[in-house]
Amino acid sequence: EHAKRHGLSFLVYSEALATAISERYALLKDLRDAVVKDQIEIYLQPKVSLENGELIGFEALARWKHHSGSYIPPDQFITLAESCGLIGRLDENIMRRSCVALKALIEQGIHVPISVNVTGGDVVRPDYFERLEALFRELDVDSQLIELEITETQLIEEKAVICKQLDVLKKSGMKVNIDDFGTGYSSLAYLSSLALSTLKIDRSFVWRMADSEKDWQILKMIIDLAQVLGLSVIAEGIETDIQRQNLIDLGCQQGQGYLFARPMPLEQVISWVEGYSGSLGRTQ
Ligand code: C2E
Ligand code: MG
Ligand code: MG
Ligand code: MG
Repeated sequence: EHAKRHGLSFLVYSEALATAISERYALLKDLRDAVVKDQIEIYLQPKVSLENGELIGFEALARWKHHSGSYIPPDQFITLAESCGLIGRLDENIMRRSCVALKALIEQGIHVPISVNVTGGDVVRPDYFERLEALFRELDVDSQLIELEITETQLIEEKAVICKQLDVLKKSGMKVNIDDFGTGYSSLAYLSSLALSTLKIDRSFVWRMADSEKDWQILKMIIDLAQVLGLSVIAEGIETDIQRQNLIDLGCQQGQGYLFARPMPLEQVISWVEGYSGSLGRTQ
């Protein structure tokens, strides 16, 4: 009797598993197709000065509209792309699109940097910097206006080689942001050895700071740490004015989040900037 029940549950389980596997396989096939055909687009989310709302930059975020009509969340397809060796190509496409967007914005008089999320495993490839430079040359883009975002977790995973690569990037004038800071386990010694420019506080801290004194203190420590390390600091995921005020009180001057603007396609960004009441980082 027990064995029978056991056998039945195994059967149900394996059917569910088979469905999950074939769904994943289908999605993977679609993803490969979308990457090869360069169909994954970018949205741009403004970064602003928390005190006066001044536009200080954008972050480029990948957006994949599946042929079924729905958008697949980046957390899902980025992970998938990482697991099957597609991420290098995807990130390259996103970088190219970001450069094109940067030029379009400059043409509109909007002269601020765009930061691009990249995967640590690609940044450490020996030809990474050369390829990046070749792209900037081809598109005639100022490398100082493209920043990189690498998550804290990936900086740790690539610990053995990334230090040198970051030095090379810094010498070229590029800025590197450590993304989702506070969710990894980097040591202070490691952090201070890296040629970083900006520490980006993970949104979970922004959301929790009002609930507990402890989280408030942790956030304060992170902001102070950035100052000690000589890094600028930016907070992500700001949704309320209270969060904005609290961050200012703690000494964080830059942020991004739905309170200011959601990620938007380029055309919408241009009209958003036109109607935006914060002071703007325009040329001239
Ligand atoms: P991330 O780099 O930490 O990006 C911030 C995420 O927070 C984005 O999610 C953004 O849409 C979301 N966000 C911004 N403000 C708010 C807010 O006020 N409230 C809430 N609830 N969310 C907010 P998204 O676009 O879903 O991207 C998720 C992650 O996927 C990114 O996290 C990044 O790690 C990764 N990713 C996105 N695009 C790329 C890419 O082109 N290449 C690579 N390698 N990773 C990417
Ligand atoms: Mg990011
Ligand atoms: Mg982040
Ligand atoms: Mg993230």
